[in-house]
Amino acid sequence: MASHMRPRPPVLSPEERRANLELAKVARTERARVKEAISAGQISIFDAINDVRPSVQRMKVIELLESVPGVGPARSALLMERRKIALSRRIGGLGPHQLRALRKEASIMKIDPKRGSLIVMSGPGGVGKSTITQFLKNDPRFWVSISATTREPRLTEKHGVDYFFVTENKFEQMIAKDEFLEWAEFAGAKYGTPKDAVREWRDLGKHVLLEIEIAGARQIRESDPTAKLVFIAPPSWEELQNRLTNRGTDSPERREARLALALEEMAAAGEFDFTIVNEQVEGVVTQMVSLATAGQD
Ligand code: 5GP
Repeated sequence: MASHMRPRPPVLSPEERRANLELAKVARTERARVKEAISAGQISIFDAINDVRPSVQRMKVIELLESVPGVGPARSALLMERRKIALSRRIGGLGPHQLRALRKEASIMKIDPKRGSLIVMSGPGGVGKSTITQFLKNDPRFWVSISATTREPRLTEKHGVDYFFVTENKFEQMIAKDEFLEWAEFAGAKYGTPKDAVREWRDLGKHVLLEIEIAGARQIRESDPTAKLVFIAPPSWEELQNRLTNRGTDSPERREARLALALEEMAAAGEFDFTIVNEQVEGVVTQMVSLATAGQD
């Protein structure tokens, strides 16, 4: 087999390098102008798609959509998902089929979908809320809210995926700007649900799931009477005790604290609209789906 030599990157002279930088700057300006023109309603996304300048053809489809007045990031992402267009797709790479889909979508965008429900899920630590959440994250009818928190990320957690990890300062600013639907303190850290994303996803017809502690659930109860509050209960107190005490490396004090907190959390069950016993995660998920869809107009 013939061995192939990788071509070496060309060695650029300082002049060539400067010229390249200049070209990149021009391209950036051209792209920014296109986005501005879309936001100002001067051109449509289809004008941009038909713009043959290489700088414009290299723009991502999602960038165009996000620039359309009233569309925003969540709606753009949903639209791309629905039409099976990869988020990384660039204008120049759109096939005729995808273009037609986009055009269709653009006219559909004016029709509001049925508003999604707001589901608040709480329950004692160790009851299996995060497994339930994982299942619902994979259900296209749901969107799981991403909270802001001041606590440190755990090893496998990612900013913007599991939480928005913010400083105390930033959290205080968010409170001051009224950016939270609810917020509370838990185990020495602050946690809050960003308001805008919840509204936006519900407007897009997704059921929004909040997995939050009890003080936060109480606030939602006050601010949104249509929210559905679900308490996840263990099959028995003994079972929960087992799950909590088998968590490996906890000190006896830590274990006691966990149990005391779980008891306190269990006492709030009566304040919720629904209690689902977590015998088996699939069963819980089925019940969550049916109560999310129930009573939707
Ligand atoms: P963890 O630090 O283990 O991820 O979460 C601790 C507790 O905070 C859990 O009970 C979780 O449900 C709750 N929590 C997470 N995000 C929020 C939030 O945005 N608001 C409220 N009130 N509680 C939250």
